[in-house]
Amino acid sequence: MTIRVRFAPSPTGFLHVGGLRTALFNWLFARKTNGTFILRIEDTDQKRFTPGGVKAIMESLWWLGLQWDEGPNRAELRQMQTNEDFEGAPDIGGPYGPYVQSLKVKRHQAAAEELIAQGKAYRCDCPAERLDQMRQEQMARKESTHYDRHCRFKQPGEVDPNKPHVVRLAVPLEGTTTVHDLIRGDITVDYTRLDDFVILKSDGFPTYHLAAMVDDHDMHITHVLRGDEWLPSLPKHALIYQAFGWEPPIFAHLPVILNPSGKGKMSKRKATSADSVFVTEFRDEGYLPEALRNFLAFVGWAPGSGIEKEIMPIAEMIDLFDLEHVNPAPAAFPYDKLDWMNGMYIRALPVDELAKRIYPFLINAGIEVDLDRLIKITPDIQERLETLKDAVEATDFLFGETVSPDPKQLIGKGMTKEATLKVLQQAEALISTFEPFEAAPLEHAFREAAEAAGMKPGPFFSPLRVAVTGKTVSPPLFGSIVALGRAETIKRLKNAQQLLAG
Ligand code: GLU
Repeated sequence: MTIRVRFAPSPTGFLHVGGLRTALFNWLFARKTNGTFILRIEDTDQKRFTPGGVKAIMESLWWLGLQWDEGPNRAELRQMQTNEDFEGAPDIGGPYGPYVQSLKVKRHQAAAEELIAQGKAYRCDCPAERLDQMRQEQMARKESTHYDRHCRFKQPGEVDPNKPHVVRLAVPLEGTTTVHDLIRGDITVDYTRLDDFVILKSDGFPTYHLAAMVDDHDMHITHVLRGDEWLPSLPKHALIYQAFGWEPPIFAHLPVILNPSGKGKMSKRKATSADSVFVTEFRDEGYLPEALRNFLAFVGWAPGSGIEKEIMPIAEMIDLFDLEHVNPAPAAFPYDKLDWMNGMYIRALPVDELAKRIYPFLINAGIEVDLDRLIKITPDIQERLETLKDAVEATDFLFGETVSPDPKQLIGKGMTKEATLKVLQQAEALISTFEPFEAAPLEHAFREAAEAAGMKPGPFFSPLRVAVTGKTVSPPLFGSIVALGRAETIKRLKNAQQLLAG
């Protein structure tokens, strides 16, 4: 049997990092088992449709390297009336399409008709007012609200199929059902606790419950790995499978992701919080996809057999991944660990590759990048970055025409204007002629110059740093000078002297 799993997002907004974790676990499981990873767009809830959502989901998955083996083809994407431009979107397709749920509405309607014909579902035309009143009364009696099955026992034809109505599943009136979750074990539910829930809405669209089960069946899905929030619906889904007489897939509900504090579901926090929740935000903040992927794999999962390390090449992760070690307990999302891991991944990149990844962040910040300087400084900043975006702050001084240091900052602690000017003059003289123009020998020469002037290196370097970078904190000074080049450095040293004298 080939394992077939699916990621089935609803395009109701950008992809949340919790959704991405669900996608990742599906993908890992498929890769581990040589199975098939399917992308299905669940867009039947037209009211909650967010324009741009489908494209953002696909881009986010693609960015993380979670390519799907089956999924919407270009023609299906174009048929969704979303005004999105799918030019260049992955055109995948597959044998069990369409992979866009709204294009299967006729199939879902036919499935509902099939159940009606067998007496397993029924049409209900109870008007909204009646349902409202019923709910009010139930609440007044302190009962849980539920449909009273008014239409269930009507004669065939009594509800006009051509007038607005919904279709409800006829839930068995007594007994229990036991469903199995791979992560949580058996769950037994009394039928009396289940409502005759709606499977087809009055606009003719299926509810999630019907559409997802029909699609999972049609697509031969063997394992449903999805978010915890769907666990309460599992008995309903088992009933739908039973009604059709289909073999259900194996279900595994993945633990919810909590805020770093471990309290409360992870959601967009206060507007002042810099913590991201959408995948595109992580990308734009400068997280590497391979670092985020590695990090997310460990949110709710850890390899067995005493393996402690958490930085893991993807091939090894695929090899070790299993559902047995998914922890049912809610999992926290420690941003600081992600930052640490991202830094580790940044340090492991070849310098050219890191420069290439930093480049778009500089461009986005409106910087006119000199590639040669960027490549020269990259080894010096590699040790210090947590995100690619940090490189903007660290290197922007290299690319401007000049820097405008604050004259007050040029004068170091315990120094006078005159002493500072003297240091800058000496530095200019040294930079003008010194060979080889490389960081280590330059530093050596400047240390000697400091000693000769009877100064400690720190105070001697400080005016130099501010003159050259415009900042009191910068990447290593002599690496910065080399990246900037001799002529530009001299220009800045002269400029600083003028500023001081003025
Ligand atoms: N469309 C549902 C969602 O976005 C999918 C749930 C499932 O995987 O079955 O939450």
